[in-house]
Amino acid sequence: MSSLLIKNCDWIITQNAGREVLTNASVLVRDGEIREIGKAESASADVEIDGRGKIALPGLINTHTHLSMTLFRGFADDMWLQEWLQKKIWPLEAKLTGEACYYGALLGSAEMILSGTTTFVDMYFHMEDVAQAVAEAGLRGFLSYGIIDLFDKAKARKEQEHARKFYDYVNNLHNPRIRFVLGPHAPYTCSPETLLWAKEFGEKNKVLVHTHIAETRREQADSQKQHGMRVVEYLDKIGALSENILAAHCVWLTKSEVGLLAKAGARVSHCPVSNMKLASGGEAPLPEMFDAGIPVGLGTDGAASNNSLDMFETMKVCALFHKALRWDPTVLDAQRVLDLATIDGARALGAREEIGSIEVGKRGDIILVNAKSPSMMPIHGKSTVVSHLVYSSPSGDVDTTIVDGKVLMQNRQVKSFDMERVLARTQEVATQLVSG
Ligand SMILES: [Zn+2]
Repeated sequence: MSSLLIKNCDWIITQNAGREVLTNASVLVRDGEIREIGKAESASADVEIDGRGKIALPGLINTHTHLSMTLFRGFADDMWLQEWLQKKIWPLEAKLTGEACYYGALLGSAEMILSGTTTFVDMYFHMEDVAQAVAEAGLRGFLSYGIIDLFDKAKARKEQEHARKFYDYVNNLHNPRIRFVLGPHAPYTCSPETLLWAKEFGEKNKVLVHTHIAETRREQADSQKQHGMRVVEYLDKIGALSENILAAHCVWLTKSEVGLLAKAGARVSHCPVSNMKLASGGEAPLPEMFDAGIPVGLGTDGAASNNSLDMFETMKVCALFHKALRWDPTVLDAQRVLDLATIDGARALGAREEIGSIEVGKRGDIILVNAKSPSMMPIHGKSTVVSHLVYSSPSGDVDTTIVDGKVLMQNRQVKSFDMERVLARTQEVATQLVSG
């Protein structure tokens, strides 16, 4: 039984239904759960943190990444997606080991902890090793093994079996912070049989089906050529859409495809930085998705196509991207963007009852941002605090990161694992991969 009291925060951005902002208030977390918010003058706890000069907000939620791809950061930039995958990424991925993915995941965890992300959705390989890294780091991970069958029946059986084994592995961990997600990579790398199997498995076991949809214009053109219809129309026709789908990207969608996703109850992970860097072109139609009621969260995508896992940066880019493309500064305001990175991300993961806001009964996933940093000044009431968080505050202003009431970073020092050792070993492992 452990408890944590964050005392006298200058500001608490609750992100509750009323988007309430509290001043000079405290948060008490007991056994990983938020128990009290308010004055908490008489409360005491095993661990106390001085919240003066700090802004408390819910830990950020990254709804799409490939954590161990931190190993390939900066290795191949400025290329077209297909060429990038085929010439650079896939040959390296063929050489990946469990140890490499473990260190890549710890490196990514360090980066997320330092930039205020507490929950993330992953898709990659050697996921048992990734799960070990996430357990050590103390983050909340929704983990999927990336299924790629390339339309080969034998490979499809093997991949499905692999995913099923990882499902058992995660269940046997009995770690409430680590959750299994199914990960059929994309409609262009998975056969319809595998996509339908994923849909059934997701429905039967109540798990998310994490995939990539309509990332590029070429994907839509190929779909027209192969199936005579657009990607989401194809998924609808074969019966693969469901409310468990968490679709990364969705850049190239028509209004009617947005309608099909909404009708199915699917969720979307919007990754503006990756889309811009890979020149995916166009823009995920967020306003149309909002109008259709699709739950949308923000994601970074992997560090090989971003190249960071920084959700503060992603928030700012997201706001600017849509304003620039729509010629409309009102299209996404700061509050809406902060929602995408917190409570809406939780909704996209079906975890709205647990995370995404600072409310009694939710998990103690909280970050503290330095309110005395030059980029946070001056403050004129709550709307400027939200504005600064989205438009001016770098992630380096995050001072403390807490998950389930456990302090993973304080004063910018990662506490849950030995970062120096991880950085050194990750460099060795990455050098071996790239040069070996
Ligand atoms: Zn991705």
